[in-house]
Amino acid sequence: MEQKFEYIGYDLVAPHVARITLDRPQRRNAQNTHMLRELNAAFDRAAQDDSIHVIILAANGPHFSSGHDLDEIADGSAVENLQQLGPIGTFCGFSCAGAEGWMAYEREVYFGLSERWRNIPKPTIAQVHGKVITGGLMLVWPCDIIIASEDATFQDTAVDLGVCGVEFFNHPYELGIRKAKEFLFRSNVLTAREALSAGMVNHVVPRDELEAFTLKIACEIARKPLFALKLAKEAVNAAQDAAGRSTVLQSAFGHHQLTHAHNMMVHGLLMDPTNLQAASQQKKDGAAPDQS
Ligand code: ZN
Repeated sequence: MEQKFEYIGYDLVAPHVARITLDRPQRRNAQNTHMLRELNAAFDRAAQDDSIHVIILAANGPHFSSGHDLDEIADGSAVENLQQLGPIGTFCGFSCAGAEGWMAYEREVYFGLSERWRNIPKPTIAQVHGKVITGGLMLVWPCDIIIASEDATFQDTAVDLGVCGVEFFNHPYELGIRKAKEFLFRSNVLTAREALSAGMVNHVVPRDELEAFTLKIACEIARKPLFALKLAKEAVNAAQDAAGRSTVLQSAFGHHQLTHAHNMMVHGLLMDPTNLQAASQQKKDGAAPDQS
């Protein structure tokens, strides 16, 4: 029997096209463990359905995603929830003390899932509106094509919180070296147009045309032979990986864990608390940075 989803929607929206929709609008699609696992199950369903050629990832509510769910981290239930669900990858040590346990969680649930989705052997399209903050980037960047509405914005607040960037460290490949550094150093908001000019986004369209435009592109691709599509994707991904992308991401993930461990030693928290209150206030206002 097919799994029923609580935090996402799954629809067949056109011949050979599946659309997965983040559906936790009251929390601005903040990602908890269950939501990420449902998202992974939905990607698996679309990947394993041979009639599906293209997968769209969209979101309900005013914002695409406010990042990781801070509450689940603060109350310690994130790791418990993962242990109940069981891991998908081969990593271990989730119940271990100190940096070992938290690194295992992030490797499985954050870095591991984003990298897994990046390698789905079918074209994926992110249909993005509103704010995409920190952990939200880790849902958008693994997609092959990004279509944004004019109101879409992108931001990584990790450095503000004493962490060196989101766990899926694709910044240099999304923005180029100089813009990636500025994006990280300043934690500034990138508009859809700026993301387009940096090459991070394929198209920017008016908000009321976003869904139809994305579907049009998806249908155009979905008419093509799936085998050719999946091998074209694999070849481009291989070009990136042969140039060192996977090694860079592994290395950056280690740096990321070091900043968490440092914050824990100095502040007793995964993040530097200096800007944490502002982050929490932003969450109340509608779209918040996460702990990443
Ligand atoms: Zn983290």
